[in-house]
Amino acid sequence: MSTLQDLFTHNRAWAAQMERERPGFFTGLVKQQTPKFMWIGCSDSRVPANQITGLEPGEVFVHRNVANIVVHSDLNALSAIQFAVDMLKVEHIMVVGHYGCGGVLAALHGTRIGLADNWIRHIQDVRHRHRQLLDSLSDAVRADALCELNVIEQVVNVCVSTVMVDAWAKGQKVSIHGWSFGVHDGLLQDLGMTIAGPEDLDRLYRAAVDRVWDKRRSA
Ligand SMILES: [Zn+2]
Repeated sequence: MSTLQDLFTHNRAWAAQMERERPGFFTGLVKQQTPKFMWIGCSDSRVPANQITGLEPGEVFVHRNVANIVVHSDLNALSAIQFAVDMLKVEHIMVVGHYGCGGVLAALHGTRIGLADNWIRHIQDVRHRHRQLLDSLSDAVRADALCELNVIEQVVNVCVSTVMVDAWAKGQKVSIHGWSFGVHDGLLQDLGMTIAGPEDLDRLYRAAVDRVWDKRRSA
C-alpha cells in the first residue's frame, strides 16, 4: 500500500526519468496540448485512460465520472466536450464503460448507495428502456449487457449534444466511439458504435443494441 510520501517519491523519479529519456518533454508540454482523443470514462480506479491506451501526457483529454454517464444538462461533461471539440479539435471521442462497474451493478440490483442513487438513476433509465432484452438474459450475463447498453446510450447522448450537432453542421470531422474495458483481462472491446455524423446515428444505434443481444442470447 502506497503512502502519500511514496506518491511524491514516485513522481520525482518519473519526472526525472522522462527528462532523462526525452529531454525537453515537459517544456514542450507547457506550450500547448494537442490531443486527438477525448476519453469519457468511469472514475473507477481500475480503468486509467492513459495506461490502458499507452497514451502520454498531452495525448488524451479525459473526463471521468461514476459509470461514464453523459447527462444532457451536466455542465461539467458538456463543458469538457465543448472544450475538446471547439478548442482542442479532437478527432475522436470515446465513451468507455467497463465490465463489473459498481454504478451499473447498483442500477441493476437497485442497491441504495446514498446521494449517488440520483446519478445512477440515469443507468436505471437505460435499464428500463431495454428491460425486455435484459429480462430475457441469464443473471450471469445481464450486468455485462447493461454495461454495454449504458455505453451505447451515452454515445447517443454525446451525439445529440448541442456541441456535436453544431460541430457536425459546420463539417468538423469528429467521430464518437463506444468501447468497453475488461477489468478481468485488461482488454478494450469496440462495441461497433462509431458515429461520424448525425445521419449514421439511428442505424448504428439499432445495430449496436442488436449485437449486445446476439452476443448473449445463447448464454
Ligand atoms: Zn465503473
